[in-house]
Amino acid sequence: MPFVLGITGSIGCGKSTVTRLLGELGALTLDADRLAREILAPGTPGLAAVVARFGPEILSAATPAQLDRRALAERVFADPAARRDLEAIVHPGVYRAMAEALDHWERTSRPDGPCIAALEIPLLMETNADALCDLIVVVACGDRQWERLANRAGMSGTSLRRVMEQQLPEAEKRLRAHWVIDNGGGPEAAGWQARRLWDEVLRRAGARDAGRAWPDRWRAWGAWP
Ligand code: ADP
Repeated sequence: MPFVLGITGSIGCGKSTVTRLLGELGALTLDADRLAREILAPGTPGLAAVVARFGPEILSAATPAQLDRRALAERVFADPAARRDLEAIVHPGVYRAMAEALDHWERTSRPDGPCIAALEIPLLMETNADALCDLIVVVACGDRQWERLANRAGMSGTSLRRVMEQQLPEAEKRLRAHWVIDNGGGPEAAGWQARRLWDEVLRRAGARDAGRAWPDRWRAWGAWP
């Protein structure tokens, strides 16, 4: 069974960066945003469900029919009930896709190697997925978030504010985390902290797996000198 790290944090704080570093150290990495995009790709049941709910106006003119993300965003940000309906289509699909990927990875990975997954989930706490993870990691960077986001292409101030409104405040995320990466420093500090986290995860995953076999280990104990 994989040891699952849930990587979350506010937009621009370094979730992708930390998840990539964990991937380089040996974790399987999955990105909830990417999976959400795949769920609504042309020809998918997800896109059909969204069109059934919101109408063909949320499709672009391209062939095959593609989601007009901007049109959909306008609809759901103006109407909380519409947003809930969209989330009810997308969020379960994301968690199902993650479960399938984890299952596949477990069946195909080396049995003696560490089986550790780092799942990047921006709305992990907001979707109450804490319980699905063995370790919840919050990547925080305080005020540096704004300067890092300044370089993000294609995101207006308004859409940024909307994303922020969906997310819990950083202080609350810190309270619900098992582990916090303070990513206010440079890339070197991020790398160092990712390695420290990785060492801790290897220790915890090893202890958990050893614990799973406890009855046999305990029964076999007792070879006193
Ligand atoms: P998120 O996934 O949380 O939205 P990213 O990992 O994409 O955040 O980081 C946002 C921006 O900040 C990216 O351009 C990234 O390269 C940069 N960045 C992240 N961590 C650091 C760091 N420790 N030092 C300098 N730049 C960083």
